[in-house]
Amino acid sequence: MYFDRDASLADLDGETVAVIGYGIQGRAFAANLRDSGVRVLVGNRDDAYRDEARADGFPPLPIAEAAERASTVLLLIPDEAHPEVYDARIAPHLREGDLFVLAHGFSVRFGRIRLPGGVDAALLAPKMFGRPIRERYKDGTGVLAFLDVLQDPSGRALRRTLALAKAAGFTRRGVLPVPHAQETELDLFQEQFLTPLLLDGFRMAFEVLVESGYDPVPALLDMYASGEMAEMMAEAASVGLYEVIEQQGSPTCRFGVQMRLGTLLGDEVRRKAERILEEIRNGAFVEALEKEADSGYPSLDAYQAVYRAGEVTRTHERYRSAVGRR
Ligand code: NDP
Repeated sequence: MYFDRDASLADLDGETVAVIGYGIQGRAFAANLRDSGVRVLVGNRDDAYRDEARADGFPPLPIAEAAERASTVLLLIPDEAHPEVYDARIAPHLREGDLFVLAHGFSVRFGRIRLPGGVDAALLAPKMFGRPIRERYKDGTGVLAFLDVLQDPSGRALRRTLALAKAAGFTRRGVLPVPHAQETELDLFQEQFLTPLLLDGFRMAFEVLVESGYDPVPALLDMYASGEMAEMMAEAASVGLYEVIEQQGSPTCRFGVQMRLGTLLGDEVRRKAERILEEIRNGAFVEALEKEADSGYPSLDAYQAVYRAGEVTRTHERYRSAVGRR
């Protein structure tokens, strides 16, 4: 694993970094790099996020112009939009000696973009969404990231990418070398198996309780909205998944947990996990995603309508409007 001592900001001397896209990742990357003294340009199409960039002190440039003026280009727009934007507005402006960086291996793993010869290229994938990337930079802790050098004609791709990782705050916490195909598949599997499993688990627990006559607000608070479960997972990330229960759980809690562990998810769920992984690896998921994007994300809209009308969301909103953002 690489840490601060393994990286030097001097490897970015003379570089201009273009952050393409000013969304979840782009905004956090741009602010952290700037605060580390890196010369940053933001490239964004003439759309919603442009004003946010301008308000944060990054006068946005057209994407092609930002790529043209920079020696390092970070592509931070949604993966399914990469091929079109990359082919038309990035690749033509990558010159020999430039460094091209992705925050997720998706487009390379699934052959959606082709890296030009003569250009350094790397994956620098933070294992975190945008707001904590910025907050943990400011409080001095940083977040974890995976790194993979994709091509290295200059012989300096690793040093340059580590310098970026340091400027973004990642080497404070640790940067692990992980092949881009693994990074991509792990990330998609976490999103498609573990995240839905947890969301469905919370929903099912809530529904069972409410149908059994419990008041929805305390049920919501006890299941997740108090933040206790989130704290437990944060603690688990440092001491261990089982250790956190040992260390923080009362005997009643520990006995209850161990009595039910291993009884809730059977072979059927394991087979589903295997199938999800298979659909990620054989490209079936990517095809479905691209089809969805091409037709304007109809199932995402439908899903929003369903969960917004659901009892969990309505209870959450009722609770939030009563107590504010405490
Ligand atoms: P966002 O959805 O937040 O990106 C939004 C940005 O992309 C905006 O600037 C938007 O511009 C721009 N954009 C969207 N579509 C297009 C398009 N067709 N053409 C040009 N610009 C477009 O993305 P994320 O920050 O979530 O993801 C960026 C990269 O980071 C991805 O590769 C992702 O896999 C990776 N990543 C994301 C993580 C996360 O937590 N979200 C974690 C780790 C990696 P506008 O709307 O103004 O047009």
